[in-house]
Formats: sequence, C-alpha cells, structure tokens
Amino acid sequence: MNIHEYQAKQLLARYGVPSPPGEVAAAPEEAGAIADRLIAAGEKRLVVKAQIHAGGRGRGRFKNGSQGGVRLCSTASEAAAHARAMLGEVLVTRQTGPEGRRVNRVLVESASDITREFYLAVILDRAIARPVVVLSTEGGMDVEEIAEKHPEKIVREPVDPAAGFMPYQARKLAARLGFTGDMLVSASSLIVGVFRTWWETDATLVEINPLCVVQQADGHASLVVDAKMSFDDNALFRHPEIREMRDLGEESPLEIEASEHNLSYIKLAGNIGCLVNGAGLAMATMDIVQSVGGEPANFLDVGGSANKEQVKAALKIILKDPGVQGIWINIFGGIMQCDIIAQGVVDAAREIGPLEVPLVVRLAGNNSDLGNQILRESGLPILSADGMEEAARKVVEAVTCCR
Ligand code: GDP
Ligand code: MN
Repeated sequence: MNIHEYQAKQLLARYGVPSPPGEVAAAPEEAGAIADRLIAAGEKRLVVKAQIHAGGRGRGRFKNGSQGGVRLCSTASEAAAHARAMLGEVLVTRQTGPEGRRVNRVLVESASDITREFYLAVILDRAIARPVVVLSTEGGMDVEEIAEKHPEKIVREPVDPAAGFMPYQARKLAARLGFTGDMLVSASSLIVGVFRTWWETDATLVEINPLCVVQQADGHASLVVDAKMSFDDNALFRHPEIREMRDLGEESPLEIEASEHNLSYIKLAGNIGCLVNGAGLAMATMDIVQSVGGEPANFLDVGGSANKEQVKAALKIILKDPGVQGIWINIFGGIMQCDIIAQGVVDAAREIGPLEVPLVVRLAGNNSDLGNQILRESGLPILSADGMEEAARKVVEAVTCCR
C-alpha cells in the first residue's frame, strides 16, 4: 500500500523527523484558509503541491495544458488560485503513465528557502536480507538518473537487523553529506528518525527526495521537503491507523473489487485473462501463456481454498477488463475441490450472460472428473484441456483465430 506525501510527512513527524509546516486541502477556499494561517504565523513564501501517488509532479503537466503540480506563491489568494487550477484536474508526470492521475487534494506548505538538496531512502535489500539506508548528495532528481549519471555519489549503508541502526552509522552518513557541528547532530537524528519510521511501521520504502538544507531566520536546518512511503500489505493488520490512510481513488477499480473478495489480482497489459488457484501456479500459468506466444491480461490467485462465490467474483472481474479476449481457468485441486470450481464457473457464466470470449478450463487433482462432467453437461461453450501446455495453446489459438 502507498500513501500520499502529506501522510508520509505526518508519520515521519511522529518519529521526530521535521518537515515544513503545512496542511492538506480538498477545496480552494480551504487552501486559502491554510495559507492565511501560515502567513499569520510569519511565513513569507508558500508552496501548493498536488497530492497523487506518483512523483515527478514538479515537472508534470495537467491534461488541460497548465504546468506543474508544485507551485510557489506568497499570498493566500494565489494559493487558492493554484489549488483551484489543480483540484479535479488530471496531472500527467513521467511516473503516472499517459492516463495521469486526478488531483483530489493539495498540500499547502511553507516554502523552504533551499540551499542544498539530497536523496535519502530506506529499502529492504532482499539479496543481503537486510534494510539498507541509501543516500546521495544529488537530490531532487530521480534516483535512477542519479544512479546512471553519478553512481559514485550513492552511498549504501546496510543495517544489521539484530543490532539495529547504530548512531555511528547515522553520523557517518551525515558526514558524507558534508555536515559538521550542530548540523551533523541534527542531520544524524533526522536519519535515525527516518530509519525508525521505516522499521516500526513495517514500511517497504521510505524515500525522501529531496531532503533539504534550508535557510531559516536563526540559521540552517535540514528538512524533509518531499516524502514517499510504501508498506507491506501483510503487516497492515498491525497498523490500523496506517490502513486508514489508504486512498482507494489511487487504486485501479478492478483491484479494489478483487481485494473486497480476498482475491489477489494484478492487472497486466495482455489479452488472456487467467484465473488460477495458488500464487505459484498463477506464475507458472503466466509463464506458459507467454512461452506459447500469448500475453496474460492479469495475475489472479483465488487462493488455495476458494469458494464458489470467489470464483464467480473472479470471473466477473476478468470479464470487466476490456482488454481480455480469452480466458484460461487453471485449477489444481488440492484442498480445493474441482467440482466446486466447475460449479462456480458454470453459475457465473450463466449469471453474466452469453460468454463473448473463448473460455478454456483445465482442472487437475481433487474431484477433477466430477468437475469436467459438470462443465460438459452445462452446455456452455467451454473448451476443456488436460495439460498446462495444451490449455495454453488452446486459449492462445482461440484468441488469435477470433481476432
Ligand atoms: P516531485 O516533483 O513530485 O518529486 O515533487 P517535490 O516535492 O520533490 O518537488 C519538486 C521540486 O520542487 C523539488 O526538488 C524542489 O526543487 C522544488 N520544491 C519543492 N518544494 C519546494 C519549496 O518549498 N521551496 C523551493 N524553493 N523549492 C521547492
Ligand atoms: Mn520529489
């Protein structure tokens, strides 16, 4: 699960990580009121930032032609005008794809007087099975771009999970950024806070780009100017307050529908819808579709012990994807009984109405004979297949010949 910048900043603040003062707004008047409060508190310059689950907003462009999802201003009426220009509009950045994302909220913040920009992230490195703190003296740009142009400027600090992130590691990193004296102390504590946020919230990613040195009335300070966070979905039950931050408006409607039925569904670009039980079999199914020249339209795992209702829901979800031109249901009956699946398929097909795309079903294992019999006797135009490869070829051929 991903969250918005303003939510990531709220979480980071709980671990003592500072970001500029600001609030989120869903309407222009609200943005104006926040700006008024910031100005009354002594802020001179403000920034209005579109809140979408994608980066590159600063250099993004709205579909209506207007430029930039990150805009500076200095009065409340300007802040309200920027909010009006962004809210309800679709912002396209290099991370959103051409369809872009609709902006439903903006963050109105005090604009920082930035003197230097850095990159700081915490990730899980699966190869070494450890968290790694990643740092670069080049901030503001994409990390991929930094890695390409200035690989020597990226520092990686692995963390021993048994010992935890040691204070000397934070100081070493802060020193790499060129900090000395009081700034070294405050930057180290910021880095420690970022790591604690990652660790304690079961995050899979915290990315701060840029982390900035800003000029303030009483000297310099380091602040989080942009933040992105992702979480391990399997750990969200431990963090109900983070689960509340989920924004369904940022997720694909079919993926939301699937999660309501406890199905793991990921939409892909191809034309062959796959309905499979078990994640391993689902991966193998996608592989074999590709190896016989097809393109899967999705990953869909109904789980090892799905019921008839889940199979129905799964088939409906696949059929709602306009890209699907053929479907392959690939079931291995272990705990799952193939006849239950077959009945679910038949019921769903009857309920949905005439099937407009070819459907190939391969059942193996527990009660497969009974399952195949139910399919045959249903009178539905279902192509059955015995092996994986035969099924894959049948569905790919059916799709190719019908086009
Ligand atoms: P992103 O484009 O989605 O990554 O959004 P960011 O929040 O990172 O903003 C993009 C760039 O805008 C930053 O790298 C900064 O250079 C600039 N920017 C963002 N906020 C401020 C601010 O408060 N003051 C100034 N001067 N620049 C800012
Ligand atoms: Mn950024």
